[in-house]
Formats: sequence, C-alpha cells, structure tokens
Amino acid sequence: MTGKKKDRGTLIVLSGPSGVGKSTVIAELLNERPDIHFSVSYTTRGPRVGEQDGVSYNFVSREEFEGMIQRGELLEYAQYVGNYYGTSLKVIREQLEQGVDVLLEIEVQGAATVKRKCPDAVLIFVIPPTFEELSRRLHGRATDDETVIQGRLEQALREFKEIPLYDYLVINDSVPNATGEVLAILEAEGCRVKQRLPVLQNQMEGVSTL
Ligand code: 5GP
Repeated sequence: MTGKKKDRGTLIVLSGPSGVGKSTVIAELLNERPDIHFSVSYTTRGPRVGEQDGVSYNFVSREEFEGMIQRGELLEYAQYVGNYYGTSLKVIREQLEQGVDVLLEIEVQGAATVKRKCPDAVLIFVIPPTFEELSRRLHGRATDDETVIQGRLEQALREFKEIPLYDYLVINDSVPNATGEVLAILEAEGCRVKQRLPVLQNQMEGVSTL
C-alpha cells in the first residue's frame, strides 16, 4: 500500500497485576510488531539487578521527577509503593504525530489519567487465568517474602476493581495466546474508519483523475 497509512498513531495502554506476565507478552508483541514504540517511563525507584537506565526505565531523583511534574512534562504519573512513575509527554506526542503507535505499560491510576486526557487511547488489562495461578506465579519467583507476595495479591484485587475503565480484557493463560489477543485487538483498532480515512482519501483522489 502506498501513501501514509494513518495520520496519527494509536496510544495503547497495557496494565495488569504484578506477576501476570506483562513484560513477556510485551516482548513477544514487540517482536511481532517492531513498528510499535515502547515508551520508557521515568521512575524514582532504584534499578533492579539487570535493569539498564534508559532501557527499562529512566531512573531519576525525586527532585528531578517533581520538576517534571511542575513543568507539565508528564502525560500522566502516579505514586506506586512509595515511588513516582510517569510518562514523558514530549516523546509520545512526537511519535503519535508521526503516525507511530505507542505502547505504555502503566498501572491503573495512570491509565485513568490517559483515558481522561486521550479518550481515543486503547486500554488493555491483562489478567491471569485464575487468581490461584497469579498466587502460584508470584510464589514461583522466589524473590520476595510472603508479606511482599500477600501485598502484591491485595494490590492485584484493588487493581481488578478498575477493570471497567478498560476497553479490553486479555487472559494470559499462555504467552502466545495473550500476545495473539493483543495483536488481534490492535489489528481491529487499525481497521476503524477514522484510522483509515487517509487510505480512503487516497482512493478518492485517484477516482477524480480517472
Ligand atoms: P515496577 O516497579 O514493578 O517496575 O512497576 C510498578 C508498577 O508501575 C507497574 O504496575 C507498572 O506498570 C507501573 N508503571 C511503570 N511505568 C509507569 C508509568 O510511567 N506510569 C504509571 N502510572 N505507572 C507505571
């Protein structure tokens, strides 16, 4: 297909409880759709082993983060377990304006802000096949003690209450299935009439010269 496919990229938000396997699904998704821009968030939490600055997150101090809030540089931000997390407005705006789809992996408060500010954003929530499975996965990680795991499960229940805000619910019973569902959602979103107007305009211009 020639010509510009769409005027604006789609803003995609993916959320889900800790341990549901969001990162694995996202890695698989980006493998299938390397054209999607994954937004690297800003956070005040320290890097975990293996996390690289500018890749996993942009790691900043509390002062730096609060400066970004004051200067209106963030599309959304939230406090989560004592740390700030936020999305830079500039990078996202540039990508969307160039027609590139942008993926945010953020928690529910941030997702609510995105929905309010960008009503066209596509919000996807990932759940495990059962709550027992989530508990099993969190215990299987063996990196956290029981209190931390219980805290994460309680947090997951609180997050589940926000699911009605989302447009789509994906069940991660297996990574290929969950990735397939996300790809199908994005494919359908790309077929919306408003997304395909540039294609239609190209065709109509051709008709007038026949
Ligand atoms: P973690 O510390 O485990 O990497 O992330 C904790 C939570 O913060 C996860 O639910 C993750 O989705 C969320 N998160 C990561 N980046 C952002 C962001 O830019 N904004 C918001 N609101 N949440 C974020």
